[in-house]
Amino acid sequence: MAKIVCVLYDDPVDGYPPTSARDEVPHISTYPDGQTAPEPADIDFTPGELLGSVSGELGLRRFLEDAGHTLVVTSDKDGPDSAFDRELPDADVVISQPFWPAYLTADRIERAPRLQLAITAGVGSDHVDLDAAKQHGITVAEVTQSNSLSVAEHAVMQILALVRNYLPAHRWVTDERGWNIADAARRAYDVQGMSVGVMAAGRIGLAVLRRLAPFDVQLHYTDKQRLAPGIEQELGLTYHEDIRSLAGSVDVLSIHAPLHPETEGLFDDDLLGSMKRGAYLVNTARGAICDRDAVVRALESGRLAGYAGDVWHPQPPERDHPWRDMPNHGMTPHVSGTTLSAQARYAAGTREILESWLAGSPIRDEYLIVQRGALAGAGSAAYTTRS
Ligand code: NAP
Repeated sequence: MAKIVCVLYDDPVDGYPPTSARDEVPHISTYPDGQTAPEPADIDFTPGELLGSVSGELGLRRFLEDAGHTLVVTSDKDGPDSAFDRELPDADVVISQPFWPAYLTADRIERAPRLQLAITAGVGSDHVDLDAAKQHGITVAEVTQSNSLSVAEHAVMQILALVRNYLPAHRWVTDERGWNIADAARRAYDVQGMSVGVMAAGRIGLAVLRRLAPFDVQLHYTDKQRLAPGIEQELGLTYHEDIRSLAGSVDVLSIHAPLHPETEGLFDDDLLGSMKRGAYLVNTARGAICDRDAVVRALESGRLAGYAGDVWHPQPPERDHPWRDMPNHGMTPHVSGTTLSAQARYAAGTREILESWLAGSPIRDEYLIVQRGALAGAGSAAYTTRS
């Protein structure tokens, strides 16, 4: 029988379950590239429930306990003597979410001799030391595409919010109880006519490009591999060989590459300094792709007119993290990929991965990041490792 340790974010401050705002979420069965949404044998939750917090348990308890397995769910993941550290030594499976990452460092992996499977309930497995997972024969799997369009929507929303100065305008209504049109308008522009680029046109980046096309903007991108000529033509895309060329060409840049050795700390003083004065930067990929203090400096100097996103490093960030107070930002907590709509898909995908693994059958190739000591499936397309 397996022991599964699941690290989830805390319940809402006013208790669980929260009152639901809607009675249903739309059912998505297929993604834009034809991949089918998760297809577990069964689910023990109602789509639209809050599944990603501790009491939601990703809807896994009945399924696992009825089969005789042990499920431990905790939000206590950091610091000495965390529940996660205490439960790790005899864990067979760890489940974590990027929104509240249980960092599976090389040191923790050393202390988890039984660990065979690390599941990311969502997309993005950089919280797992992939080199250490390779060395220890641990399979790493994530629920590819489960929240890609959720993130794309958030990125588009934040681009619009920054360019149109939405948050300060809203604050004039709520906090100041005023009608200060000039104050709200003095930093507000139209997106129409701007050059907008994405770093990485994978599932999320391409979805952002598609969603922005109707805004009558010039679309740009860089990626390790060029998109098919038909897509470039359809969306009128300008391809850039490297990030420096893209960064210097656009008014708005949205980051959609994974965090791995090639991208860590990429947006430093030098790269940010090469962007147009008054450019906007949105990062819903991973916080550590941007140099924390360089972003603050770029906003303070006016090089960037705005910065938004939902990803920080580490997570949760300290109460005095400088991104909380920097000028002209539109940061949210890491929420873009954990809408209730997305939770239904990644909870079902987590169950599908567990069903496969417990039955000894193959996990879908598109869910694999590391298997049998090497990058595999989606992981071999998106990630690099040190070894
Ligand atoms: P994806 O479909 O695998 O796309 C990633 C793309 O990044 C691929 O096209 C890849 O290139 C490209 N890439 C990798 N390294 C690059 C580099 N150095 N320069 C330029 N391009 C590079 O992944 P996705 O589903 O779009 O997700 C992207 C990332 O978003 C995830 O890794 C995760 O970190 C983040 N994410 C965030 C949230 C959230 O809640 N905020 C949720 C989901 C995902 P090739 O494949 O062409 O080599």
